[in-house]
Amino acid sequence: MSGSPAPYTMKGQLGLYRAALFGSCPKCGARTLFEAPAMVADQCGECGLKLGELEPTGRAVPLLLTVWVIAILICAAMFLELEVRPPMWVHVVVWAPLTIGLELFALRVYKTRGVYIAYEKRRTAYVQSEPR
Ligand SMILES: [Zn+2]
Repeated sequence: MSGSPAPYTMKGQLGLYRAALFGSCPKCGARTLFEAPAMVADQCGECGLKLGELEPTGRAVPLLLTVWVIAILICAAMFLELEVRPPMWVHVVVWAPLTIGLELFALRVYKTRGVYIAYEKRRTAYVQSEPR
C-alpha cells in the first residue's frame, strides 16, 4: 500500500459536507472537484485525478433532491406566511437565494458523495490487486 490517506474520508458526515462545500478532491484535498457551482470538473488541476469518470450518472436522484428541497421550502414559506404575514418583498429576498443555495448545496453533497464512493472503490480495488 502506498500514498497518504485521503484528506477527507466518508466516515463522518461533517467531512462529506465540508468536502462538498469546498469541492475538495478525494485524492489530494485541493479545491478542484467542481468547475461550476454544481458541475464536477473533468480532472483535478493539482493531482490529475480524472474526476469526470467518477461522477455519479443518472438523473433520478438529482430530480428527487430538487423536488424535496422545493417541497421543504414551500412548506417553510407557507408557515412563514400564515404565522408572520410578512410583506411580499420579504418572500422574494428570503426564498429566492435560499432556494438556489440549498439546491446547489444538495447537488454538491450528492455529487461529492458519489465521487468519493467511486474513488474509494477504485482505490481499494487497486490496493487489493497489487502483488504482495
Ligand atoms: Zn486532486
